Amino acid sequence: MSEDTRFETLAVHAGRRVDSHTGAVAPGIALSSVYSPDAGSDYNYSRVDNPNRRRLEACLAQLEGGTACACFASGVAAASAVLHALAPGDRVLVTEDVYYGNRLLLTRELARWGLEVVFVDTTDITAVKAACTPRTRLIWAETPSNPMLRISDIAALAQLAHSRDMRLAVDNTFATPVLQRPLASDADLVVHSATKYFGGHSDVLGGAVIARDDDKFFHRVRSHQITCGAVPSPFDCWLLHRSIATLPLRVRAQCANAHAVAEHLARHPAVAEVRYPGLPQHPQHALAMRQMRAGGAVVSFRPHGGRGAAEAAVAAARLFTRATSLGSVESLIERRATAEGPDSATPPDLIRLSIGVEHAEDLIADLDYALGEGTRFWRDSMSRPADPNARPRMAGPGSE
Ligand SMILES: *Cc1c(COP(=O)(O)O)cnc(C)c1O
Repeated sequence: MSEDTRFETLAVHAGRRVDSHTGAVAPGIALSSVYSPDAGSDYNYSRVDNPNRRRLEACLAQLEGGTACACFASGVAAASAVLHALAPGDRVLVTEDVYYGNRLLLTRELARWGLEVVFVDTTDITAVKAACTPRTRLIWAETPSNPMLRISDIAALAQLAHSRDMRLAVDNTFATPVLQRPLASDADLVVHSATKYFGGHSDVLGGAVIARDDDKFFHRVRSHQITCGAVPSPFDCWLLHRSIATLPLRVRAQCANAHAVAEHLARHPAVAEVRYPGLPQHPQHALAMRQMRAGGAVVSFRPHGGRGAAEAAVAAARLFTRATSLGSVESLIERRATAEGPDSATPPDLIRLSIGVEHAEDLIADLDYALGEGTRFWRDSMSRPADPNARPRMAGPGSE
């Protein structure tokens, strides 16, 4: 495909071609774990490489505008490979409200391995600069961040990194290359949880690292993939590759829905605060619009009434499914702190929505119900003096 092939076309065609033996238009799934040298192919053993993974890696490298890609069994396995490409004693600066699983990976595993891990506000370049030491080798930025949806300036971080012998890795899971291409802003590496928008149907786990240059650092990532072996199965690769054909369609529809939901919540009398990069009241809206093509499909908000109100609203939703994760065709709702455990820094009343491809009006109606009629009993019970006979009902009909 030529240099200027457009994104939608790449999503359908990158890494795919009609099978020259059979004419099959859809790729097959090569389940074989071993390959015979007698056939003259350069495959040998499936952990090292296989046709489905090679196709997926070629596709993702093109979508992010990189030169190389390594796929993993999950997003945290991809992050782990990048971090292990550093050396013990190296210092890494990490976005403060980084995805909670990556926080655990850093504090529980890599700190013990000898990495010096420092959490900084990567939205503040001065703070990042102040945290740099001669041993700092990597800035790990997640933008938008999870779940606060803070925006870090990728180009500014890349410039700082390259002025001091550091690399910049960007977790692009929330934005996807449909909305944001960090390598074009000079980041060195892009990391994904493919479980989210790439998979898009809540039925496959995966991760990927895409590199701007196929350099020594990326060779260590590749070596970690092969020798540590946290690889996706051929079927996982096939599922991901199949889903990616519709990635631009899904993400665009999800963003339009999310924007409508965020605007509605911002006007809602039961809502105290909405966080969505696509709204002008987001503190980094201007940067978000420079760096991203839309605000994304995750909306965080805090209802009036604190943690109890948030719990009641989440329980009352009927169309939104109460579950963690994001990026899929169905909309999900969670009180985020419950997913993050006791040392979570997320406000206890913060609700995170992952917006799917349903009709926006149905999603809005469900949120209206969850914040109104569905939690009326809860609010009444809060505003009345305790009545020993009252049994507050939190769930509306139809919810489990
Ligand atoms: C989910 C997620 C990850 C981890 O991915 P898994 O596939 O669950 O291992 C990493 N970063 C972000 C931003 C995520 O949302």
